[in-house]
Amino acid sequence: MHNIPNKLTEVKLRIANSANKCQRNPDEITLLAVSKRQSSDKIATAFESGQQAFGENYLQEALEKIEALSALAIEWHFIGPIQANKTRAIANHFDWVHSIDRLKVATRLNEQRPITLPKLNVCIQVNIDNEASKSGVAPADVPALVKQVQSMERLCLRGLMAIPQQQAVDDIGVGAVGNNKHRNAFATMHTLFTEMQTQFPASFDTLSMGMSGDLEQAVNHGSTMVRIGSDIFGVRT
Ligand SMILES: *Cc1c(COP(=O)(O)O)cnc(C)c1O
Repeated sequence: MHNIPNKLTEVKLRIANSANKCQRNPDEITLLAVSKRQSSDKIATAFESGQQAFGENYLQEALEKIEALSALAIEWHFIGPIQANKTRAIANHFDWVHSIDRLKVATRLNEQRPITLPKLNVCIQVNIDNEASKSGVAPADVPALVKQVQSMERLCLRGLMAIPQQQAVDDIGVGAVGNNKHRNAFATMHTLFTEMQTQFPASFDTLSMGMSGDLEQAVNHGSTMVRIGSDIFGVRT
């Protein structure tokens, strides 16, 4: 049986080690456990060993787990592509959304966030490598969307999210660096994040980047939230 508590400890150690290497405080980095295509039982196990924030990509699957685990005080993050006709369910059932990629989606989430719930925490997803297959706004369009979203009453704009291109051959070990393109994508994100932060200081505190294969590089480039799936839960079914 895959030992989730041990895996969580290992991932936290990797976060702490990479933070220490670049003189950052490990407490600045939040671990988001990505539980897509993993069972509710595994999520409950991780929660019982202290993990509170979980990320899901597929709405229907997520809603079933949220329902099944409603007794646990889990913080749910939606991190997948968003269809405009699915925003109401997202606005009703999640605490965070990382994947705002257009004004229409932000507008709908803002209108549909129930007044009985706290503001919905949101990040704008940036298509940092300009990939046709990925959602996200082009870096040049980030400032305009940030400006629009930060004035929305029912949303709390927390920052930016990116999924840089994965290199075909992974040469990443703990503390090692990835290829240049990947490193540059993280560096570009950090620059963009810092620029937005100085213009819109209020709540803009989250740079969501880094996954199982590139956690170290992401932390090294200022990530404040790493999204880790397979290194906690094992291979997805
Ligand atoms: C699946 C996924 C992750 C986690 O990926 P792992 O490689 O399993 O750590 C992180 N972010 C997003 C947006 C994902 O879809």
